[in-house]
Amino acid sequence: MGNSCIGTGAGGSNGLIPPETEVENPLAMATPSSHGSPGQGSGSRAGGKKKPVMSARPKPPPTNQRSVLQRETENVRTLYTIGRELGRGQFGVTYLCTEKQTGLQYACKSIAKRKLLQPEDVEDVRREVHIMHHLSGHPNIVAIKGAYEDATSVHLVMELCAGGELFDRIIQRGQYSERAAAQLTRTIVGVVRQCHSLGVMHRDLKPENFLLASTGEDAPLKATDFGLSVFFKPGEKFSDVVGSPYYVAPEVLKRDYGPEADVWSAGVILYILLSGVPPFWAETEQGIFDAVLKGEIDFSSQPWPSISESAKDLIRKMLNSDPKARWTAQRALSHPWMREDGVAPDKPLDSAVLSRLKNFSAMNKMKKIAVKVIAQTLSEEEIVGLKEMFKMIDADGSGAITFEELKDGLQKVGSQLAESEVRALMESADVDGNGTIDYGEFLAATVQMHKVERDENLFKAFSYFDKDGSGYITYDELKQVCHEQNLGESAINEIICEADTDHDGRIDYNEFVAMMRRGNGGIGRKSAKNLDQQRNLRGVIFAN
Ligand code: ADP
Ligand code: MG
Repeated sequence: MGNSCIGTGAGGSNGLIPPETEVENPLAMATPSSHGSPGQGSGSRAGGKKKPVMSARPKPPPTNQRSVLQRETENVRTLYTIGRELGRGQFGVTYLCTEKQTGLQYACKSIAKRKLLQPEDVEDVRREVHIMHHLSGHPNIVAIKGAYEDATSVHLVMELCAGGELFDRIIQRGQYSERAAAQLTRTIVGVVRQCHSLGVMHRDLKPENFLLASTGEDAPLKATDFGLSVFFKPGEKFSDVVGSPYYVAPEVLKRDYGPEADVWSAGVILYILLSGVPPFWAETEQGIFDAVLKGEIDFSSQPWPSISESAKDLIRKMLNSDPKARWTAQRALSHPWMREDGVAPDKPLDSAVLSRLKNFSAMNKMKKIAVKVIAQTLSEEEIVGLKEMFKMIDADGSGAITFEELKDGLQKVGSQLAESEVRALMESADVDGNGTIDYGEFLAATVQMHKVERDENLFKAFSYFDKDGSGYITYDELKQVCHEQNLGESAINEIICEADTDHDGRIDYNEFVAMMRRGNGGIGRKSAKNLDQQRNLRGVIFAN
């Protein structure tokens, strides 16, 4: 966010490295700026991209309760108890919080609305929420739980990462072994790959924005702070200069860049993990920029002589000054140095859209319909990202994805498929069989399953099938659903066979939930505890 913005205004230090401070650990010197850059006078979240505020008196801040999220929300304090502070940036203060209903702990990042002076600042917060929803479900990306707004602040409640910032771990340890660095880099580059395959550029990758899930040595890393992130379309170029000096790619400084810039930042993090110092370093911000533009990588100082050639090779690939020649995240993941213990090469990974389409195509008819019904009820906030992807693939903007568009779209997100494979995916996503994938079908085929599997959503879907509210889905009700969904009645028997495990000719709530939560290969994915919760839920719903 604002604290991590680059001031591009002429003249003067932005306070990155206080001149009076002795420079001993150059990385540690980043700390003052990473917790509020004095150079950012305007208070703008994306510093360099904003015009300076010309009027002496800024516009009054938005106080309307819905001005940022554009919807009424519950008061965060009625749902959560807010506890101690966990960390802060220039705009946000993050607190520990406890959900009153469950006692579960989360992190709540509160952004004061009075700091959102420009309309763009409000848009940045809105986009941060949208992007977090869009990316949620990846094990190495902080999951958002909800967003709330009151008269003074916007609150993002998210998964708690109790282990603090990767930045502090690096400072504590100095440097990592190649093995440990490779493991962290796999996670970091995996996050970059996931973001890019979902059409998102992070734009602020640095060790401060990777958090450890817990205090343990081997705690997983999670990416956070999507305050500077944007949606991008393949080939789209950006010109606003944002990011943090040590991590910024040369083409960003030249104001002509795309997602490749994230790979550069990840390459800088890798260099730091192995050596403890940033590759492009100087005492002033301008000096850092000059070093970045020069792009010379020092592999002669300690400890580089004792580091493997393979590690250096990967760093060179990621820190290639030419963004077109720079390796993509996908390619970097298959570099020999990144492979786990150097064993068998990873087979190429599917892009997020492709793996979700494949998962959807393996679902039975009833599950597909249920997912479609649920996807339609999700909040706009949760599906904005998928809408963006739909628009990207629906190249002619007709509102329906054709075979050719799907083929091109998958290629654009990095998946080369045979015609027959695209054809099969097309047919399975085209639930109503009209030959194209409309927006509702696309949403159903690509929505994250963890959103679908929320108890309240499963109940909504069950109620859609159980027209008379009897607690059972009967043959006649399925007939009606097939009619509504433009499906032939031949599907009915297939559906009953798949879900009716007690063979009484109808589907009860337990059978429905079990089917929805079963992996498509037929193996139950949820623990016995969850099954108990389902039973309790059922008890409540069908008490009468
Ligand atoms: P900003 O955009 O102001 O930089 P961040 O999203 O980076 O805000 O959050 C600021 C700090 O709050 C982080 O650097 C971290 O120390 C802490 N923090 C953020 N999210 C979490 C979380 N999910 N769990 C624990 N601490 C967090
Ligand atoms: Mg941050």
